Amino acid sequence: MSDLFDLSGKVALVTGASSGLGVQLAKALAGQGADIAIVARRQEKLDEVKADIEATYGVRVFAKTCDVLDTAQIVETVGAIKDFFGRIDILINNAGTARVAAAQDQSDEDWKAVIDTNLNAVYYVAREVGKVMIEQNYGRIINLGSIHSSVAMKGLAISGYTSSKGGVRMLTKDLANEWAQYGITVNAIGPAYFESEMTAKSINDEKFLGLIKMFCPMGRPGKPGELDGAVIYFASDSSSYTTGQLLSIDGGWTAL
Ligand code: NDP
Repeated sequence: MSDLFDLSGKVALVTGASSGLGVQLAKALAGQGADIAIVARRQEKLDEVKADIEATYGVRVFAKTCDVLDTAQIVETVGAIKDFFGRIDILINNAGTARVAAAQDQSDEDWKAVIDTNLNAVYYVAREVGKVMIEQNYGRIINLGSIHSSVAMKGLAISGYTSSKGGVRMLTKDLANEWAQYGITVNAIGPAYFESEMTAKSINDEKFLGLIKMFCPMGRPGKPGELDGAVIYFASDSSSYTTGQLLSIDGGWTAL
């Protein structure tokens, strides 16, 4: 059974792997034997993550700064990863951001920052890595959606975020449709709330925890590691006939 989820010999690129879920997911894939490429904007954080993964899992790690809003940097970075490892089998499209602002007052800048990072950049990175995967006739792309790919939330004003994550859900379906012919699967995960730099403030706030208790049947945020199984499944050959899907990992949140 363990072979079903073996990733030895595979190369995985994780965007936004300088903090939060990206680090956790890079470690999950390294734990299954994948070599890892990590990108984000903060070099020193990437260096720490690289050293940690190399020491803990004994896999090869390539770390490079890349702003995923800059398509020239994406082209250069994907080329550098291809030169280093020779291939890219798995893409975790994880870099993301959030803004809270009432829809009627939100600035152009806040709206654009969220749509650019959470939706446009997910497409830009997939487009570039997709070219490599098409050449290989093999690939596994996993996009970070959210419960907010499917539902908004009473008491929280996040129109940019919900719109971007809803877009990720449809982009996942479209790329799955276009690239099935090239041996590439494209799926998404839809987490509820997990602690990270993005959520640290709200997730430790009593009022917000009250909302989580109300909206989530399990009544709690996710714990570190609770996304690992889904990502390993989508990254591995055990999911070879699964594409275009969003798997919600949310304590039952979107069941209501
Ligand atoms: P963090 O803020 O901890 O991580 C975000 C990561 O994205 C950082 O590594 C950051 O690195 C990177 N990033 C942001 N902008 C850019 C950019 N322009 N170029 C390159 N990298 C960038 O948040 P999370 O770990 O929580 O979020 C990760 C993903 O998970 C996001 O897509 C988020 O929407 C999604 N998600 C998170 C949930 C949660 O509860 N935590 C729930 C559902 C989905 P750097 O600043 O170094 O560039």
